[in-house]
Amino acid sequence: MHQMTIGGKPVPVAGTFDVTDPATGEPFAQAPDCTPDQLDHAMNTAAEAFRTWRRDDRTRREALRGAADALEAAIGRLAPLLTAEQGKPLKDARSEIAGAVVWLRYYADLELPREIVQDDARGHAEIVRRPLGVVAAITPWNFPVTLAMWKIAPALRAGNTVVVKPSPYTPLTTLALGELLQEVLPPGVLNVISGRDPLGALMTTHPVPRKISFTGSTATGRRVAAAAADDLKRVTLELGGNDPAIVLDDADPEQIADRLFWAAFRNNGQVCLAVKRVYAPEHLHADLVEALAARARSVRVDAGTAEGAQLGPLNNRPQFDRVTDLVADALRQGALAAAGGAPLDRPGYFYQPTVLTGLTDGTRIVDEEQFGPALPVIAYRDLADAVERANASPYGLTASVWSPDLDRAGQVAAELEAGQVSVNVHGLGVRPDLPFGGHKWSGLGVENGPWGLYGFTDLQVLTRPAQP
Ligand code: NAD
Repeated sequence: MHQMTIGGKPVPVAGTFDVTDPATGEPFAQAPDCTPDQLDHAMNTAAEAFRTWRRDDRTRREALRGAADALEAAIGRLAPLLTAEQGKPLKDARSEIAGAVVWLRYYADLELPREIVQDDARGHAEIVRRPLGVVAAITPWNFPVTLAMWKIAPALRAGNTVVVKPSPYTPLTTLALGELLQEVLPPGVLNVISGRDPLGALMTTHPVPRKISFTGSTATGRRVAAAAADDLKRVTLELGGNDPAIVLDDADPEQIADRLFWAAFRNNGQVCLAVKRVYAPEHLHADLVEALAARARSVRVDAGTAEGAQLGPLNNRPQFDRVTDLVADALRQGALAAAGGAPLDRPGYFYQPTVLTGLTDGTRIVDEEQFGPALPVIAYRDLADAVERANASPYGLTASVWSPDLDRAGQVAAELEAGQVSVNVHGLGVRPDLPFGGHKWSGLGVENGPWGLYGFTDLQVLTRPAQP
């Protein structure tokens, strides 16, 4: 069994919970269930490690390089574990872990300039960024490794120590990551614990962490913010989205369909920034629906371990039930499934890639985050009205505009309320060097780039008068 790692060592298992293989719907492994004492131990150990870890920038950068090498060498071993617990095809599991390596290297290489505001005859004023202390990192089940690394790499680079808790649906690869990285990190710098949702809540009220870095649903994000408020812990929240793609009237449906399709269906739509609703002009609507539906029908959905699988199952039963309900609700309201529309007839949480037409705003699957392989395509007559409807959502994570006229697309993009907006592609801005974060209900603060690292620091101003 994969174990929790605290202070560089495996922790004796006090209790366990089941981890289910989404391709069968059956439990296939157990994970340790962290006790409150073990949580205290993790937090105190991280606080102790912080005393020395925060001091030496060079050691930290070398350690992150070592972590990148160790993780890269382990991709072949970790990818099957990620597929088993998450469901995604093996090649996607491999590229997810390879992405985490890129993030480690990016932060290892990131130079933090000294910011000297004044250095003249009157005196010297400088701004430094101090690490906060212990960071509690809480992650969801869609990209367990990537999203953990978006927190671990910048938090450690800035000089913090970390206690990370993965989702109870996907704890194993993160536990394995914790075991692996002990070879290259000083004890206590990275601690990995696992448990059910109440463990996350306990982390947010624990007195030790100075920051909660959270990725997950908006509902839980609100609870995290409320729990952190009492102690004024810093928070970064990466939350849900209902990301619109607006197709302009001069776009060519066949030409854009591949990119649009995969922007919506990658990882089975279980991507915070997936395209979740498409607005298409009336005269292109039927052609676009058919182009997307043709792709949906031809995608190979199978267990992540099956040769040639392009999409796996949904990750867990509640998510499978939610997607099933949202599509059934849309069909009851008069929507038509141009492709899919129902689960696959086999064990596990498999759902047919679904393209919905004949529906509009006010239907649950348009207004809410579906987080699954079902895409509504909505016809519009007036572009200004489509922009208005795209922005009418309380979410604001990402958005895209599709047109060969880049100036016009850029003007529409500038109207959209989202943390990232792309033209003729969706989600191109997800890179280690660009800030990622949501507007409105989609989050608070950003991850990635120097901006993400700054979120793991407090500013300190150092001043002195000129020497006589
Ligand atoms: P979730 O909110 O149910 O759980 C996320 C994590 O929070 C899990 O580790 C869970 O155990 C923990 N948790 C549960 N209750 C808690 C509490 N009261 N206090 C602290 N932690 C608690 O989310 P999920 O279903 O795992 O993930 C799906 C959601 O995540 C979607 O809404 C998706 O859009 C969002 N997401 C956002 C981003 C982003 O970067 N914006 C990225 C990926 C996923």
